[in-house]
Amino acid sequence: MSIFNSEWEAVIGLEVHVQLATESKIFSGSSTNFGAEPNTQACNIDLGLPGVLPVLNKEVLNMAIKFGLATNARINTPTTFARKNYFYPDLPKGYQISQLESPIVEEGYLEIITEQNGNKRIGITRAHLEEDAGKSMHEDFEGMSGIDLNRAGTPLLEIVSEPDLRSPSEAVSYLKSIHSIIRYLEISDGNMAEGSMRCDANVSVRKKGEEILGTRTETKNVNSFRFVEKAIEFEIKRQIGLLESGQEIVQETRLYDSNANVTRSMRSKEFANDYRYFPEPDLLPVVIEQALINNIKDSMPELPQEKKERFIEEYDLTEYESGILSSDKDLANFFEELVKTTNKPKISGNWVIGELSAFLNKGNLNIQDSKVDAKNLGNLILRIEDKTISNKMAKEIFEEMWNSSKTPDEIISSKGLQQVTDEKEILALIDKSIEENPKQVEQFKSGKDKLLGFFVGQVMKSSQGKANPQQVNELIKKRLEE
Ligand code: ADP
Ligand code: MG
Repeated sequence: MSIFNSEWEAVIGLEVHVQLATESKIFSGSSTNFGAEPNTQACNIDLGLPGVLPVLNKEVLNMAIKFGLATNARINTPTTFARKNYFYPDLPKGYQISQLESPIVEEGYLEIITEQNGNKRIGITRAHLEEDAGKSMHEDFEGMSGIDLNRAGTPLLEIVSEPDLRSPSEAVSYLKSIHSIIRYLEISDGNMAEGSMRCDANVSVRKKGEEILGTRTETKNVNSFRFVEKAIEFEIKRQIGLLESGQEIVQETRLYDSNANVTRSMRSKEFANDYRYFPEPDLLPVVIEQALINNIKDSMPELPQEKKERFIEEYDLTEYESGILSSDKDLANFFEELVKTTNKPKISGNWVIGELSAFLNKGNLNIQDSKVDAKNLGNLILRIEDKTISNKMAKEIFEEMWNSSKTPDEIISSKGLQQVTDEKEILALIDKSIEENPKQVEQFKSGKDKLLGFFVGQVMKSSQGKANPQQVNELIKKRLEE
């Protein structure tokens, strides 16, 4: 059963939790550093002990406003906080401070590129601030669970999309766009493996042409782009299967099991939470002055979309190339650094997207951890451009640069890899090859043009691959047609 080209249509809305990269927590001065000893970074405010008073971290507001401006949203003023009440072992205080009415960011959108329909606008319903809960730890404890409250009170921005997404790949595209924006804005490291960005996927299906939304399920805390795609794909197929066999979709929360590639029911609607929201009595409504918004506007960095358009314009790259190069801020910086050395955007872009990305992927590394820096890669490209080395040699040299941290020139001279471009030297090799193959020369002269390739091959071989193939080609033609 294919989920595409069928009579069914998928409807997807994402809720994305982004951990904001502040030094201290949203309502206290405790550190937000990742990886500290359990329960060493949670103070009485994070724990909600009686009598404590939360104080809003101003930086959290600035970051949320940045996100709102980057996604064409309205910044609400005053923005208000609310208590969301529920019991869970990792939330010993029994409530979470969140936002319900008048969230800081409302009614925005961003553009994604889709496989089928080109550019598409995805609505952002709201983005609100809240504090994170602690963490239950099941692994190291026999017959009980541990609780680590270091994460309690870490600032989160929850970004809720409209149900505008229509396929797993659109959902991933949207998620990557959010990831790219928060990293450009430097409001989060977006590290999904460490939980700095987590995604809940709401999925329903309906017959094409139907206006009313179908019953949805919500798959919680999916923590990689690939898993988001897989989880949604599974959920769409599961729901279509149920409906086609006359069953109903149960509105429920589900979990994705990446090992089995299935989603499983976690809790159904009957146990749905009633959070008994009420206005947070310990925090006043926060008035956001226009002057603050203007200041933040003035300090906004260039955003992915703008950078992409500039790359197309300034460097004459294709949409595809600039899309990749602008998707990550550090990758874009590396590329521009490279162009400073080479002054050749096209070939530089090709090296970043091709060879460099392949080596990064193989080592599971970010561009910041690249073993070859922009300066050295730039010098390697210059050696191709001035014909010291061929493209093929450059790839071998690149591999050695990666493994040895030597400069390209060191490797070229220590291995004697310079390309032979001296005409006399090449002509000598050509003459030798002509001398050794009189039969082929005759055949060529009587019209068998294909033999040109034979001679090029001979000369390349006798130069041990160091002759410039294009030059060899031209010189042989001249010699044989004399
Ligand atoms: P809740 O807070 O209970 O999860 P919301 O109304 O805030 O509910 O919706 C959360 C997310 O679910 C939003 O991203 C929204 O776009 C999406 N959504 C709502 N209804 C549907 C539906 N029928 N199918 C798919 N997604 C939906
Ligand atoms: Mg939800």
